[in-house]
Amino acid sequence: MLKDYNDLLLGHKNFISQLSKDDAQSYKNMAEQGLLAKIMVIACCDARLDPVKLTGATCGDLFVVRNIANLVPEYKESGCGETVAAMQFAVNFLQIRDIIILGHSCCGGIASLLSSDNCNNEISLVYDWMQTAKPALDKLDGFCLENKTEDKTRSCEQLSIVNSLNNCHQYPWVKSRINQGLLRVHGWYFDIMSARMFYYNEQAKKFAAMLEEV
Ligand SMILES: [Zn+2]
Repeated sequence: MLKDYNDLLLGHKNFISQLSKDDAQSYKNMAEQGLLAKIMVIACCDARLDPVKLTGATCGDLFVVRNIANLVPEYKESGCGETVAAMQFAVNFLQIRDIIILGHSCCGGIASLLSSDNCNNEISLVYDWMQTAKPALDKLDGFCLENKTEDKTRSCEQLSIVNSLNNCHQYPWVKSRINQGLLRVHGWYFDIMSARMFYYNEQAKKFAAMLEEV
């Protein structure tokens, strides 16, 4: 059942009452050691997508930034956005080793990009933000005109991840660390219906089931 705000207050009370000595020590250690995460995840805001749960990670493992449709804007010499600021902090300060761009099926952001009424004033900022993924939409028009709507949406969701991967590589401080072999950038796609993860295979230029590689 969906939780409301008061459920979260109760949830935190339970968290404190059930905190084991080991868990309490683990939090003390994290406070003393600082932020040590070596993996960054750029995920969609969608509440059905939980990077920690989906990967078996634990508290402190992942440096996560979330935005609508998990987009990485194209590189610009000036100007800033929260996603790019988080990326720069992660790459240059935390010296993370991997960036995962984590998209998913049934993405509302991508659906709005595909929708003919996406200029709605009530979500005009979403419309502006989603123009970041416009190159994915442009590629889709060439490939998927005959496809069913759900295939078209899925293709656009995946093409958008590839677009964000390409954008990510444009940042000089990302490119530099990749060239030194110190950083890798990955595209992941979570299918909510099957609860299965797919990854972008750079050589094959397509997404493949993650479990086949593990
Ligand atoms: Zn989404």
